[in-house]
Amino acid sequence: MFITLTLIIIGNVRCQQQLMNTKTAAGSISSPSTAKPIKTTKNIRRVTFPDITKLYSIGKSVQGRELWVISVTSHNSSTDPDTDLKPNVKYVANMHANEAIGREMVLHLLAHLVNHSNKSTNVKNLLRHTRIHLMPSMNPDGFEKAIEGKCQSGPGRHNAANVDLNRNFPDRFFKSNVAEQPETAAIRKWIHEKQFALSLNIHGGALVVNYPFDGSQNHSESHIEKSPDHDTFVHLALALAKRHPKLRQKVQCIQEEWFENGITNGNAWYPIRGSMQDYNYINGGCMELTFEISCCKYPPKSELVSFWNDNKIPLLTFLTEVHKGVKGRIYDSNTEHRIANANITILGREMTFHSDSNGRFWRILLPGDYVLVVKANGYQTLQKQFTVSEHKITVINVYMAPIVRHSRSHNLQQQKYLIKKGQNYDELLMGQSAALTMVKNGTNSQQRIQLQIVPLIMLVWAILTIVNKNC
Ligand SMILES: [Zn+2]
Repeated sequence: MFITLTLIIIGNVRCQQQLMNTKTAAGSISSPSTAKPIKTTKNIRRVTFPDITKLYSIGKSVQGRELWVISVTSHNSSTDPDTDLKPNVKYVANMHANEAIGREMVLHLLAHLVNHSNKSTNVKNLLRHTRIHLMPSMNPDGFEKAIEGKCQSGPGRHNAANVDLNRNFPDRFFKSNVAEQPETAAIRKWIHEKQFALSLNIHGGALVVNYPFDGSQNHSESHIEKSPDHDTFVHLALALAKRHPKLRQKVQCIQEEWFENGITNGNAWYPIRGSMQDYNYINGGCMELTFEISCCKYPPKSELVSFWNDNKIPLLTFLTEVHKGVKGRIYDSNTEHRIANANITILGREMTFHSDSNGRFWRILLPGDYVLVVKANGYQTLQKQFTVSEHKITVINVYMAPIVRHSRSHNLQQQKYLIKKGQNYDELLMGQSAALTMVKNGTNSQQRIQLQIVPLIMLVWAILTIVNKNC
């Protein structure tokens, strides 16, 4: 059995003991950074990184095993403007516990991050700007049954109640009669608490990146079921596939199964109900993809180094994708208090996400012009135009006006205040402005000018016609 490398980073002795009581088989593993074997957990335990890591459990499995997560991030100074909007990213592995290689890759990634946290500029920047949450096993009960070397099937796919956890999440079309499992409930709670912007669900048994939607209304039919963020999901899928040597080389696990560019829409591959990635996207505001990284579900440990060599760059670079698009804060324009749980949509992309408990939001988008639509109870709907560029995430703060009747002098004061904040008063009050609603993704500034000029020309033409008639 594979060794659990988790102990590398844990500074908390009690937690170490708890982990030791789980399945921590003796043995050795090649260090991802040195390719030399780290011999025993005893040696590993000496290396701790309490300043940048935190071990926490999000709940327990059916049989009472902890669902461990290790977060990795550097602690910025309080004056660092990036701290407040640092996004959360998660990698979840071993949901189907007989697909064991993802578990080990997540632990290798953890070792790489901590071992390079003071050496590599890239890792330093990543940790400075990102909160990375790593869950090596979502199904620890299943892993107890899984057998090394079982490539195609074998015990451990399901949890201890014999439920496939990747069919156990609330579905947008179908109501399941299978009870929600504790592992599923824990993940759902975690998703809503942390407000992740990006996520990977790591599996085995194929070589492909699978993106939403996994399911559609017509469950029996395989077809591309596009989400409103199809362009972004394809980009994210390619960001992984292009960097994985086997996916890039179109290695096929099954001869009849071929994926163009190493990616597939989930419903086009095979439709499923109750998948975790669809739940993340629809209900959690998180863009999750499923990464299938091995033809053999549970390969022998002798192949670990080779798997790490294939997956190191894809797993590292995918984390940086969270820094594309837009992020910001939503405020009450009177009090400057942040507004939690506001409904947010990107115009033309009918998928709502929410501000977190501190009024912050994150959304990955490709370069282009967009309009943010924000709704909150007791406030006037707000639309705000913004542009996403190629290399830098756009940061915007929006100020929402409470729905109250004000005097003209109050409105004037409000206008002055918002101008000071750099926000157009019209954007605030004229949330339904026609000019703004016409600005959708991909509409360039020239088109926008045309959109505004055409009605003007028509108006002048009408006036001239009336004048001529009267003459
Ligand atoms: Zn799987």
